[in-house]
Amino acid sequence: MSDDRAERIRKLLAELIAFDTVSDRSNLPLIAAIERYLASFGIAGRRIVDDTGEKAALWVTIGPQDRPGFVLSGHTDVVPVASQNWSTNPFALVERDGKLYGRGTTDMKGFVAVCLAMVPEMRAANLTTPIHLAISYDEEIGCVGVRPMLAEISRGLIKPLGCFVGEPTQMQVTIGHKGKHGVRATFHGLAAHSSIAPSGVNAVEYAADLIAEIRRRAQQLATEGAHDVHYDVAHTTLLTSIVHGGTALNIVPERCIVEFECRGLGVTESKEVTDAIVAWAKAEIEPVMKAADPSCGVDFEEILDYPALDVPSDHALVTLAKKLAGRNSHAKVSFGTEAGLFVSMADIPAIVLGPGSITQAHKPDEYVEMSELLACADFVERLIGHCAAGGELG
Ligand SMILES: [Zn+2]
Repeated sequence: MSDDRAERIRKLLAELIAFDTVSDRSNLPLIAAIERYLASFGIAGRRIVDDTGEKAALWVTIGPQDRPGFVLSGHTDVVPVASQNWSTNPFALVERDGKLYGRGTTDMKGFVAVCLAMVPEMRAANLTTPIHLAISYDEEIGCVGVRPMLAEISRGLIKPLGCFVGEPTQMQVTIGHKGKHGVRATFHGLAAHSSIAPSGVNAVEYAADLIAEIRRRAQQLATEGAHDVHYDVAHTTLLTSIVHGGTALNIVPERCIVEFECRGLGVTESKEVTDAIVAWAKAEIEPVMKAADPSCGVDFEEILDYPALDVPSDHALVTLAKKLAGRNSHAKVSFGTEAGLFVSMADIPAIVLGPGSITQAHKPDEYVEMSELLACADFVERLIGHCAAGGELG
C-alpha cells in the first residue's frame, strides 16, 4: 500500500469533514466540491436535487455507460454535534495515533473519501464493467435522500449488478439488517376541570392503554416471535419512545402524542407489527373514546419507514464481496441502512460493508482508524481489478 494513497484519503476526508452537513443543512457545497474533484478527472456526475433545491444526491458512472456495473453507495449527511462534548472541533479533521477524528469520519464520510481517493485508479484501469458512485443525503433522518435517486435508477434501462453500502461494519460482509417502521399516535380527548374529571375524556390515560399494549406485544415478540442469532438482539423489537401529554395538574388532558417504533427481522415485518397495533387501537380504544364524546378519537401517521435487508448467504454478490474483502464469514447488523431500499425500490442486490465501527458513530469524538480506510481502499482496488477483468456477478 502506497503512502500516497493514505495521503489522498486523509486530504479528501479532511475536505469532506469540513462541510457541516448535519441533516438539516444543505449539502450542496459538499456536492459541488465532489463535482469539482471528479471534473479534474474528466468525470461528470448527475445531480438529483430534492424538492427544496437545498440538497442533492450525485450519481456517477466511471467506465462504460452502456453496461451494468457495481455501485459504491454512501450518504453525505451527519448527525448533530449540538449538546455533545467534543474535545476537538468536530468539523476539522484531527489525526492522533492512527485515528482520524471528526463528525462523520466513521459514519460515513470515511467511506466516501476512500471511494473518491480511488477514482484515479478507476480511471486508469480499463474498466469493462462500470463502477458507480451513489452519493446521498438525509440518510440519518430515515434513509430519505437515496429514494429519488433509486427511483431514477430504476427508470433507467440498465440495472446495476449489485451495490455495496459503505456503512461502518469494520469491512465485515453484512448481509442483513433490520427494517424500521415508526408511527405517531395523536389522542384527541376532551379537557375539563379535574374536579369534574368524569365529564372530560382523558387523552393521556387512553394513550397509556396503547403503551401497555405495545409493551405486551414487545414481550410477546421477544418470547414467541422469530429469532435470528446473527443479530445482537435476535428478535424483532418494539417500543414507545416519546410521550407528550397534559398541560396542568388540574386539567383533564385534551391531547396526548405517542411515538413508537418497530425494528423487524423480516423485510416487511416492521410495518406489519405497527399496522396491527394501529388496527387494535382503532378497534379497542377509539370506540370507547367516541362513546364518551364523538369529537374524540385517535389519529395515526407514519413518521419513518425503511425495509429490512435480508440477502441469502449464498447470493453471488455475497460470494463476490467475501472474495474482494478477503473474508469467509458474514454478519448481520441491527442498525438500518440504505441497502434494504436498493433491493426493495430498485431490485439491485445490496450488502453493507464499510470501514470503521458503528460503536464510534453518532458519538462525540467520533473517529475512524486509518488502517480501516486502507483496508477499504484494498477492497475498492480489488473491485476495480474485478471490473477490469470482465466484472461478472458470479
Ligand atoms: Zn450512516
